[in-house]
Amino acid sequence: MAKLTHKSWAEPYKMKMVELLKMTTRPQRAKSLKNAGYNTFLLQSDDVYIDLLTDSGTNSMSDRQWSAFMTGDEAYAGSKSYYNFENAIKKYYGYKYVIPTHQGRGAENILSQILIKKGDIVPGNMYFTTTRLHQELAGGRFVDIIIDEAHDPTNTFEFKGNVDITKLDKLVKKYGASKIPYVCIATTVNMAGGQPISIQNLKELRTYTNKHGIKIILDMTRVAENAYFIQQREKGYRDKKIKDIVFEICSLTDGATMSAKKDALVNIGGFLAINDWDVFEEARNLVVVYEGLHTYGGLAGRDMEAIAVGIKESVNDYHQRARVGQVEYLGEKMSKYGIPIVKPIGGHGIFVDAKEFLPQLTQDEFPAQTLAAEIYLESGVRTMERGVVSAGRKPNGENYYPKLELVRFTIPRRVYTQAHMDVVAESVAMVYDRRKKIKGLKMVYEPKYLRFFQATFEKLK
Ligand SMILES: *Cc1c(COP(=O)(O)O)cnc(C)c1O
Repeated sequence: MAKLTHKSWAEPYKMKMVELLKMTTRPQRAKSLKNAGYNTFLLQSDDVYIDLLTDSGTNSMSDRQWSAFMTGDEAYAGSKSYYNFENAIKKYYGYKYVIPTHQGRGAENILSQILIKKGDIVPGNMYFTTTRLHQELAGGRFVDIIIDEAHDPTNTFEFKGNVDITKLDKLVKKYGASKIPYVCIATTVNMAGGQPISIQNLKELRTYTNKHGIKIILDMTRVAENAYFIQQREKGYRDKKIKDIVFEICSLTDGATMSAKKDALVNIGGFLAINDWDVFEEARNLVVVYEGLHTYGGLAGRDMEAIAVGIKESVNDYHQRARVGQVEYLGEKMSKYGIPIVKPIGGHGIFVDAKEFLPQLTQDEFPAQTLAAEIYLESGVRTMERGVVSAGRKPNGENYYPKLELVRFTIPRRVYTQAHMDVVAESVAMVYDRRKKIKGLKMVYEPKYLRFFQATFEKLK
């Protein structure tokens, strides 16, 4: 790591404005929870004390981002802010062509429509909800090729985001490389608990895909957090800067989709980046249909300015160390209370193993959904389900039954203090003490797509 001047991960910033929070009572929370159908996505945020629902778009912007925000050029076409945005992406990520989108899924939609043909196979290191849905809507089928270790919450392998290249090779042999438009690689792997992929694995994948003429598309949503883990864990990277590791990761791929709402420290935004001119040309055309002109893609000029500054801040060594340090602090605290969490601790949150926490519930009684509801009831801490509800249904209507049944405590960047993390860990410990008495849920409303966002539940008696 670049020479740091202090040993602890303390924040490389101070606060000059705070947002006041409403404190609630348990009866109030019981009522809110019932009204929300036991789905934390349907709670009103005003009724939430510490909001760990997601790290998406919940970041605090810096004074520099706010200043840049004010300089936004809101011209419809060719805005100066677009060029600042494009230059930051070229400089820090190295891709040749850039298409702004309103958020990550906008980029996934466009990319999937361009690269995937009906009947194609899209291998990836574990699925992500919106990514897989866009692949399926474009006629493709996602196949998980992550290493087996990633599906085991107790396995402490340091790079659980790695691809199993023999799994990919089997797909190539079975379907032929021409049926595989690209391999989709996430950094860090959200659904596995924020687990990183190593540079070595990415290099091996690059060699393999080059041989077979298959592209690699990066889901670079948390690329800088992944780079931090590489710096800390991978041989030969200890003295490299996160900035350079991020650049190297991107250089091993052909393009990327990005949700700037995570790593890039803003509240909205995303992009598609690609090195291939033909793909870019088609994307530049399609973006007009779904997002807006190719020099704003659904974003205001001010958003693009804030992203440009956020990208730069995200690759700062001190920033990432405090970011991941805070996540580790919460995880270690929970472990001390005996709470079963996914190990090693990931980059953007703590994932509690709900199957282990509530062994009395079957997966059809939604253990993770139940646990998220109980944690809210306990203390007003909002988390979310990452289990059978999030996994949804296969195109043929059957439920996906993922091995992992997790509750995600996602930490927004630069938002909460260490004392907040103490309260979170204590709240979970209190639920843990009464875990044997907890009953499950039944689903009473199920939307067709991405059901975890809007499904509602009732308590089982
Ligand atoms: C958030 C996220 C997306 C989708 O991005 P949005 O900005 O929410 O549309 C894609 N992939 C991963 C890994 C994500 O975490």
